[in-house]
Amino acid sequence: MKLLEERTRILKISQDLIAAGLIRDTQGNISILHRDQSLIAITPSAVPYAERDAEDISVIDLEGNLLEGRWKPTSEFHLHLIFYRERDDVNAVVHTHPPKATVFGVLGSDPLPVVLNEAAMVIGGAVPIAPYARPGSVELAEVTFKATGDGNTAIMAHHGLITVGQDLESACRASIAVEASADTIITARSMGFEPNSLSPEEVDILRKTYLDNYKPKKAEG
Ligand SMILES: [Zn+2]
Repeated sequence: MKLLEERTRILKISQDLIAAGLIRDTQGNISILHRDQSLIAITPSAVPYAERDAEDISVIDLEGNLLEGRWKPTSEFHLHLIFYRERDDVNAVVHTHPPKATVFGVLGSDPLPVVLNEAAMVIGGAVPIAPYARPGSVELAEVTFKATGDGNTAIMAHHGLITVGQDLESACRASIAVEASADTIITARSMGFEPNSLSPEEVDILRKTYLDNYKPKKAEG
């Protein structure tokens, strides 16, 4: 079976995203690029998470052709492919429908500010809002890609969230940090206060420290 490891990792991270409340039933979609093989493991369309095993995760090429798997890939495959084609620092894409972050996608175009250490570290900046386009369209992929810029997140107007990363785990962490930030901001505003943002200088320091140091470290002695 092609990309067994990647397909298995997608199944596991799906459970983490369900536990975090970012996806449910058949919502959202997740992919990993195997850059050397130019192959992508990607979630199928309309198959409930609870019923999936590794063979239910599809394998496609960079043109979106199905190479292996029982099901057609997610109809949002354009959204994944555009990042793999255009950015060599992206090897994983996570698209979710988080209830709190999506609130900001129906309010307007102000980016989600950086109010939490966690967001500074794993996102490294404010989260832009991409303009509306229809689900599954090439236009949605293009406007979302453009809004993301060289960052790793964008909230999709009237829809949800996309995060990208060098690996699946960092893309997943960014999704969870966006939703935690949205939750904190909504709570502060519901109390009648505008939350303070971290300074750009502090965000840069936290991001750099995280990228340089955040990895498992062997216990000494
Ligand atoms: Zn969606």
